[in-house]
Amino acid sequence: MEKRRIIEVRDLVKTYGDFTAVKGISFDVYENEVFGLLGPNGAGKSTTLEIIETLRQKTAGSVMVAGIDLDKDPEAIKQIIGVQLQTSGYYPNLNLVELIELFGGLYNQPVDPMALLREFNLEDKAKAKFKALSGGQKQRFSIATTLINRPRIIFLDEPTTGLDPQARRNLWTLIQQVRANGTTVVITTHYMDEAEFLCDRCAIVDSGRIIAIDSPDALIDQLVAGGFERKKEVKKASLEDVFIHLTGKDLRED
Ligand code: ADP
Ligand code: MG
Repeated sequence: MEKRRIIEVRDLVKTYGDFTAVKGISFDVYENEVFGLLGPNGAGKSTTLEIIETLRQKTAGSVMVAGIDLDKDPEAIKQIIGVQLQTSGYYPNLNLVELIELFGGLYNQPVDPMALLREFNLEDKAKAKFKALSGGQKQRFSIATTLINRPRIIFLDEPTTGLDPQARRNLWTLIQQVRANGTTVVITTHYMDEAEFLCDRCAIVDSGRIIAIDSPDALIDQLVAGGFERKKEVKKASLEDVFIHLTGKDLRED
């Protein structure tokens, strides 16, 4: 089956004053894949994401989302994408159900708050305030809110940064679930194990440039084909495997 492009970025440039954060990058995202922007801090990942999300102005280049030109109709793009809001958008006096109802109202979308919370294992927290949630629960809620307007694509900026191994794995499962329901996922991360686990394809971004783009498997194969060998003998498990084996996969926060 031919893969259909849902995002097309061409020669994208972003300058802040006399500093160029994004230096003419081009890439495509295919429908229903998990696409990763990987790179160290300051690489330009969030800038790129926020331009596609219509939250930042680009300096040059073109962006098409589901056939819609960002320059011509950003409002139409907003309607088909799901964006993680800044946590400052979570009014402190509202509980999770009320927040979802509020966002549903803003999007003019009927929404079943309890069903959404259930999907993200937050049913017990329906009456809780956002600030009372654990780190993992906050991230789960934040991802849940991206789905309120039934978007075709969601954007997740470093969704697992700061979470413990159990909460990270739980979030990976939820992200796979979102994708299995037909949504395209664009994610940024600087965790390579996360990218290897989640991404169908990824772009490695460094200092505002894409220096490699392919599936994690293909990128690894290319490195190995070039004669690369790990210095240390590869063991059959990692320290993280030891940790998960000893402490279990159960979430600790709930
Ligand atoms: P990443 O998400 O990969 O860590 P960012 O896109 O946030 O990278 O930032 C890329 C570069 O642009 C960094 O050097 C950052 O300091 C700079 N930058 C980001 N936002 C601004 C801004 N509003 N004004 C000036 N420089 C910025
Ligand atoms: Mg960032």
